[in-house]
Amino acid sequence: MNDSLDRSFKTLKKTIPLLLKHKMPAIPTNYALWYAYVDNQNSELNQEIEGALAEGRAFSDIYTRELYRKHVADKQELNAWQLRQSVEAMLTEFSQTVLDTQTDTEGFKQSMDSRLEDLSKVEKEGWSMDEVMHLVRSMVKEAQFIRNSTLDFAAALKSAEQEVTRLRAELQKSQKDVFYDALTGLYNRRYLDSELAAIKLEQKVSLIMIDVDYFKVINDKYGHQMGDRVLKAIAKRLQEKCKEKATPFRFGGEEFSVLMRDTSLSEAIHQAENIRRALEKVTVYDRRRNQTIEGITASFGVAALESGMRRSDLLETADRHLYDAKRLGRNRVIPMRT
Ligand code: GH3
Ligand code: MG
Ligand code: MG
Repeated sequence: MNDSLDRSFKTLKKTIPLLLKHKMPAIPTNYALWYAYVDNQNSELNQEIEGALAEGRAFSDIYTRELYRKHVADKQELNAWQLRQSVEAMLTEFSQTVLDTQTDTEGFKQSMDSRLEDLSKVEKEGWSMDEVMHLVRSMVKEAQFIRNSTLDFAAALKSAEQEVTRLRAELQKSQKDVFYDALTGLYNRRYLDSELAAIKLEQKVSLIMIDVDYFKVINDKYGHQMGDRVLKAIAKRLQEKCKEKATPFRFGGEEFSVLMRDTSLSEAIHQAENIRRALEKVTVYDRRRNQTIEGITASFGVAALESGMRRSDLLETADRHLYDAKRLGRNRVIPMRT
C-alpha cells in the first residue's frame, strides 16, 4: 500500500466515527466535509468546526450544507473522490496482502471487484451508514474465506473487524430511537423482532397479540386525529397494565403486542383478560363534538413458546388465534389452548 493510500485510509477511519457522533447522514457531501476536517485540508473550515464544537452547536442539515458550500464545494470538488479512493484503498490493502501470499485468490478478487462496483454507489446514491457498514462487513467476511498464513494479513483483518464492530456499536447507540413508536412512545415492531430473535428456545416466553375492534369506525366517525388520541389512550392503559415481566409494543396501526418473560400460557391468558377488561374502560373526550368516545374493545390471541416450536411460530400462533377471536365475535381472548 503506498503512502497516500495509507493516509487516506487512516483519514477515512477517523471520518466515519465523526459522522456517527454528530448524527450526520452518510451522504457524500458530509463525508467530504468531515474528511476535509480530519485531513486538515482547510484551516478556515477547521477553525469554524472547532468553534462550533466548542459552542456545542448542532450540525443540522442546513448548517452542514452551508459549511460544505462555504469551505469545500468550490475549493475541493475532488473530496468525494478522495473518500472513495480511501475505501478502495482498504480493499486494495486486503487483496494486495492476499496476492502477496499467493494463495487462491481468484474468487476473492472477483468478489472484491464487485464490491468496488458497489462502492461507486456510495457516491452516486448517497448510501445510508447501515448500507455502508453492511458492505464493509461483507468485505471482511469474504476476506475471512481466504486462508492465509501471514501474520500481517491476520492482523489487518483483525483490526478491520474490530473497526466494523466498534462502528456498529456506535451506530446502534445513535439509532436508539429507531426502537420507539413516535405516536404512543411504546417500543415498536422492530424492537419486538429483535427481542424475539434473542429469545432462547428453552425460555418460558408467551406472546399476546392485540387488535383493536372496528377501529376504522372510530376514525370514520371522529376523524383520524381523534383516532390517534384513542391509540395513545390505549397504549397508556396497556403500559399501566404491563409490569415487570410484560413488555408492551405497538406492533403497527391499531395492533399491539405484549411479550411476557418467565410466563406460562395460563399466566399470559390471565394477563390478556386483565388487559381486555382494562381497555373496555378507556374513554377519550372529543371536545369539538362534546362527545365521549367509549366502548372501545379489542381482540386477543395468546401463544406460549413450547418445545418443537420455532421463534417465528410464537408470533404466527398468537396471530392465528387473534384472528379466531375476531371471527368468533371480537372483544375476547383466544389462547392456543386452555
Ligand atoms: P377489525 O375489528 O376487523 O380489526 O376492524 P378494524 O376496523 O379495526 O380493522 P381494519 O384493519 O379494517 O382497520 C384498521 C384501521 O386502523 C385502518 C387504519 O386507517 C387505522 N389506523 C391504522 N393506523 C392508524 C393510526 O396511526 N392512526 C389512526 N387514527 N388510525 C390508524
Ligand atoms: Mg388490524
Ligand atoms: Mg382492528
